[in-house]
Amino acid sequence: MFKKAQKHCGLILMYHHINTLESDEWQLAVSAKNFAEQLSVLSDFNVVSINEMADAVRAKSVRPNSIAISFDDGYEDNYSNAASLLANYRYPASFFLTNSIGNEQPQYWWDELERILLLSKHIPEILELNVRSVRYRWNLSGNWTEIISPASLSELAGWLRWKVPPSTRHALFVYISEWMKSLTYEEQQSVIEQLKLQCNDKGERSDAFKCISSANLDSLRQISQFEIGGHTATHIALTNFSNAIKSQSIHSNKVFLESILYQPVTGFAYPHGSYDKDSIDILQQMGFRYGCTTQEAVVTTEADPYKLPRFHAKDWNGRQFHQHIEEWMGK
Ligand SMILES: [Zn+2]
Repeated sequence: MFKKAQKHCGLILMYHHINTLESDEWQLAVSAKNFAEQLSVLSDFNVVSINEMADAVRAKSVRPNSIAISFDDGYEDNYSNAASLLANYRYPASFFLTNSIGNEQPQYWWDELERILLLSKHIPEILELNVRSVRYRWNLSGNWTEIISPASLSELAGWLRWKVPPSTRHALFVYISEWMKSLTYEEQQSVIEQLKLQCNDKGERSDAFKCISSANLDSLRQISQFEIGGHTATHIALTNFSNAIKSQSIHSNKVFLESILYQPVTGFAYPHGSYDKDSIDILQQMGFRYGCTTQEAVVTTEADPYKLPRFHAKDWNGRQFHQHIEEWMGK
């Protein structure tokens, strides 16, 4: 048994995938085994919903050792590998979904970009993109455009996004991923299509990158302690867009989810952690009760319900996970 942290503050955990991925440069995946161990560790804490946490913040009385659980982006593995485990513990959890729910194909540009630029055996020496009538051209000369052996591909698959790029491909991946956040959904789709064509990419990807199906979302919504929250229609970084686009993306996502769920959607997580005062005003006007960021901090009575911080839970076993919680609570 571990020593329990006793600080008078709470925290919110952020998960994306409960799965094992071929490469994971953003460290978004927690294996099903480690996730089960993490849930077991949480039995020593007060697991609450984010709504309860937000209410506690408003009432200026956050319960000691309270922890809330959240999932962003709505990958199918949230349903297949996490939902029943969470339900067995009767833990509340919030799932923040875009309008990609129910689509059969992988939807997110970062998953497509990873496959095309990092996992394909061969990409051309010259890559060109036309965006907003501007032509971008990259010369990836050198040995990195050549066919990479499966062994070196798997070696490079261990690369993490914030480490020095080990090749021009990786450097380009970093550049384009940052750039993509400033583009509209249509422009992002266009970039992916242009890259697919030039790299002869067939768009084949494992089921790990699909979003929750409509049928499984229906099962998920019937578990009363689970909450479905908003994450914008197309996962846009809100601060890069006008208020009209911000409103449209938040509203169409809310309407979309409510039409499936038959219940109000009042929780929200900012895609890419990107928010500003206008985004918060829009959330409040549309009846959202809280907004989650990706800033890592504990939730205290001083927190703003529309800027709730969250800790990114990584692929740790139970012991490592507990150490991190203690460290976070002690902050
Ligand atoms: Zn997201």
